Amino acid sequence: MASVVDQTNPNDRPIAERVEELLAREGPLPIVAAGDPVLRRPAEPFEGQLGPALLARFVGALRRTMHAAPGVGLAAPQVGVPLRIAVVEDPAPVPADVRAARGRVPLPFRVLVNPSYEAVGAERAAFFEGCLSVPGWQAVVARHARVRLRALDEHGVAVDEEFGGWPARIVQHETDHLDGTLYLDRAELRSLSSNEAVAERWTQPTPERAAAALGFALPKRPSGPPA
Ligand code: ZN
Repeated sequence: MASVVDQTNPNDRPIAERVEELLAREGPLPIVAAGDPVLRRPAEPFEGQLGPALLARFVGALRRTMHAAPGVGLAAPQVGVPLRIAVVEDPAPVPADVRAARGRVPLPFRVLVNPSYEAVGAERAAFFEGCLSVPGWQAVVARHARVRLRALDEHGVAVDEEFGGWPARIVQHETDHLDGTLYLDRAELRSLSSNEAVAERWTQPTPERAAAALGFALPKRPSGPPA
């Protein structure tokens, strides 16, 4: 039976104290894996729980952890901090055919505070993606091809911007983390592939071949004007 006041429960301590403790360690922050409830609860809106100096240090640590992983986005709950904060950055080191098919253009570093998104248009784009909290696996997720993102930056300045291509995928994935949603919740589960299987079989710019071989559906391509 739990005692009324459980001093050992890290969730009972103020978030700032827990962040200070995380930042006291050397090196990248430990990344929380699927199965930890922190990844399944909506994160708290950021309302100054960390002072400006601590927020800057935390954002720096998130960025270093994302680089070390390596990854193109990291949300605070992935390091066990239940705040609506994420970082994104993608240098997009991919071949030209992949860049063209996936819209994988470079996304400069940015901090998303209290982000939310909505679809722009009805088009959907389906590609393999992965998550640092689900190591070793990838799956095809059909996402909005374009989204409008509203957020604050790390200085509290409002952001209201449209994203397309791979950057749209990244901001949806990271914002979903802050709502307790993992990409697997939206994935075509029959596409689930180990990193080894993806490297061996599914590196084509688009997932049509994987869809045919593994037996999952892809969204219909929007019909354009006759060529
Ligand atoms: Zn993720």
